[in-house]
Amino acid sequence: MAARRTGVKGSCSRPDAAKGGEMRALIAGNWKMHGTGQALEEVRKVADAAAAIDCDLLLCPPATLLHRAVEASGGRLPIGAQDCHWERSGAFTGDISAEMLVDAGARAVIVGHSERRLYHAESDQQVEAKARAAQAVGLVTIICVGESEAERAAGQEMAVVGRQLSGSIPEGSSAQTCVVAYEPVWAIGSGRTPTREEILAMHGFIRTSLGRRLGGAGQAMRILYGGSVKPANAAQILGLPDVAGALVGGASLKADEFLAIARAAGQEINHGKPTLR
Ligand code: PEP
Repeated sequence: MAARRTGVKGSCSRPDAAKGGEMRALIAGNWKMHGTGQALEEVRKVADAAAAIDCDLLLCPPATLLHRAVEASGGRLPIGAQDCHWERSGAFTGDISAEMLVDAGARAVIVGHSERRLYHAESDQQVEAKARAAQAVGLVTIICVGESEAERAAGQEMAVVGRQLSGSIPEGSSAQTCVVAYEPVWAIGSGRTPTREEILAMHGFIRTSLGRRLGGAGQAMRILYGGSVKPANAAQILGLPDVAGALVGGASLKADEFLAIARAAGQEINHGKPTLR
């Protein structure tokens, strides 16, 4: 991948990461359908602080702000998108292709977020096609997986996440092109988080699944946790083995909160030099 895109890939420095590989934390903010021009001030604040933070950062504003966010970041903070279409162009009213995101200055894209899977009925197959299209034009893909509350109550969480992993991650994905975000649907925006043991068990399961399917590439891939991560619980969650960062929704809307989480990641995970710039 071109040097321009190294902002969201990382050499990571987590000792328990894949054998021989070092894993640098990534804290990615998903603004969802929040923010107009005024919110660019938050992008500027994060960009101003980024150099002093020892982890990779990414902000994913809505598509309407993408290009302006790239400009506001001044090249000091990678900006990503929240979704893309799997086709390069065509009669898909309202959709945006991966190539268009690159043209707007995006370096990464979230695909398969549970809100897309739920409200837009996106299948694993579609998520995989989107991820493939995005990787083909050099975007880092953050591929989201996670079970619903009912699925967990039924003891189906591993089966569900296993299916999503095998259906949504393109063949040939690597740690440079792909990040996996485990986001239990019931933890998103709810203020609830899984227990330490639940996160450990799921991240371990994801790591094993990625390794079986993709070998060394799967072993080296970052696995983020997402779902109600706040400054108050960031250190506890980010300190867990095999949690290589977070996908943050609500707390990413305010620079101060987002930066507090990123600082916790820097302290809990990284011991290396920033690779963002
Ligand atoms: C998300 O939607 O990806 C998310 C993690 O949201 P929140 O942090 O608000 O739970």
